[in-house]
Order: sequence, then structure tokens, then C-alpha cells
Amino acid sequence: RRAHYAALRDKPSVTRDGTHITLLHNSGLVADLPMLDDTGAAGVGLFRTELQFMIASKLPRLHEQQELYAEAMAIAGERPVVFRLLDIGGDKVLPYQRSMAEENPAMGFRSIRLGLERPGLLRTQIRALLLAADGRPLKILVPMVTETFEFTQTKLVVQKEIDRLRRQGKAIPSRLELGVMVEVPSLLFELDQLLPEADFVSIGSNDLVQFLTASDRANPRVAKNYDPIGMPRLRAIRMVVDAARRYNIPITMCGELAGKPLEALALMAVGMTRLSMGPASIGPIKELVLNLDLKPIQMAVGAALSDGADGVTIRALLQEWIEKQ
Ligand code: PEP
Ligand code: MG
Repeated sequence: RRAHYAALRDKPSVTRDGTHITLLHNSGLVADLPMLDDTGAAGVGLFRTELQFMIASKLPRLHEQQELYAEAMAIAGERPVVFRLLDIGGDKVLPYQRSMAEENPAMGFRSIRLGLERPGLLRTQIRALLLAADGRPLKILVPMVTETFEFTQTKLVVQKEIDRLRRQGKAIPSRLELGVMVEVPSLLFELDQLLPEADFVSIGSNDLVQFLTASDRANPRVAKNYDPIGMPRLRAIRMVVDAARRYNIPITMCGELAGKPLEALALMAVGMTRLSMGPASIGPIKELVLNLDLKPIQMAVGAALSDGADGVTIRALLQEWIEKQ
């Protein structure tokens, strides 16, 4: 299979009927990055910066963070890397950091909530990213935003750090893009306030599905009962895709959903054209894309979502389609 997928590497990622699908890696370690050459992916759609923090024995210092980001950018070269700001706290506890026991860590003091309340940590990371970019373009993604003000506040922190660099006569990124993760359901009802503030959007399917269904993503006993591409979830995803299109900003799916064929098909069917996944999934998804006539599936899924046709599940519909291939 490896040789088979390797042969697809240099083929443009376009469906049979001409829709370009951008395939990207989820990553977090510099060691993963050379795999971009093997898979032929267009870049890194999600770089989980907390991994460096989780494998360290103490809080990585500014220069250590900067070195890691610079190395990641150097290996990626012309291919873009989307650096997600620290998503620690909750279940991603750092052994060397004091934290309070929480009843519900996934819904607790984590991620950008922690970043905004502990601005030292956030500022240092942003400074490290700006320095690592050293005048090149930079993309930063903000996780676990629940209300628009958390995103705009993060933007202010970034702006302050840019002003600081400028005063010091250091290079600032030639182009800086700030994106927001949609993974907390409340944002679905604030897209018209949120999206005008953002340069791009990323859906985190792992958390979005967990919170939409109130079922722990790490607990198969409950999570297995709710299909991530069930009607309500797919409608929510479509809502974000449509809104991103209205505001003319790129949207990427960066949760694990995009790396599974049937699920990827559902995502493309609702208009998602940028999919970020574990590197091992690129080959199989690329093969799916190359053999795909997307328009008829978009019509069928669109109709099913609108009518909520009785007894039709999207999964069954897509399964049938794949078997006919
Ligand atoms: C997600 O929630 O889907 C996501 C991409 O982030 P993480 O899995 O790191 O929470
Ligand atoms: Mg998440």
C-alpha cells in the first residue's frame, strides 16, 4: 500500500469533476515534519505546540520555543505551517506546573482561557513565534475560543508584541494571519461577530463533536453512540463552512474526522475543501479525492440535510455510494 500511495504523491489533489482539495498534516513534533516530502501534503494545517511543553521536564524557555518553531518552518520551507497557541490545561496537564484539580477538565481552565489569564505564558509564546518567523509569513491559530472577545483580546496581545519587535528594530512577519478554532458550540451562534475578526477558521471536530453531543471524546462508551457525521453535527459543520464562504476566508477541518474516508467524504459534501489529518491518512484520502465525482454527492447530502429525509443517515448514504464505486 505504501508504494501505491507514494505513486499518488505528486498528483494534484483534485476531484474527477475538478474541485481542488487541499490536504494538510496534523503535527506537533519537528520529527514529523520531513514526512511532508513523503506524503506530498500542502503543509501543516495544525501544529499542536503543546507537545513540546508536554514532553519537557520544565517550562520551555523563549529561545527553546523559538528554535522549535524556526526549525519547523525551515523544514516546511514554502509550505505553510499553522501554529496553534498552547492548548494545555484540562487533561493536558504539565507535570511541572501547579494546577487545580477540576471536576470536568475538558470544560475547565484550559487553552486560551488559561493563556489570557496568565498572559506571561501567552506573550512568551507569541514572541517566540514572531521571532522564529524572522520576517517570513506566519499563521497563528487560537484554540478553545468560546466568545469573540477572547479572540480579539488575543489579537491585541499579538499586536503589542509586534509593536515591541518593531521598536527593537527586529523583523516582523511579512504577512501575519490569525485564525480561530471553532470547537465550542456557542461560537456557532456568533459567527457573524467572530468571522469578520479572523483571517481564517479551523474546525476542531474532536472537541466540537464532544461538546455538541455532551459526550467525552475519550470515553468510547458514550462517544460511540453519536455519529460525528450524524445530521445535527454535519449541519453545524455546514453552517461554519457557509459562513466562512460568506466572509471569504479559508476554512479547514483539523480534527481527526478529516482523516477517515467516509467522514472526509461527508465533509467535502458540505463544501469543506481543506482537510488536515494525521500524515498516514493522506494517501488513502488522496486516493478517495482522485476517484471522486463530488457534485452528485454534494447534491444528495445537501438534499438529505435539508429534508432530514426519514430514515436516511448520511453515513448509510455515503457507504452505499462508496460501495458503488
Ligand atoms: C480538535 O479538538 O478537534 C482539535 C483539532 O484539537 P485537539 O484534538 O488537539 O483538541
Ligand atoms: Mg480541540
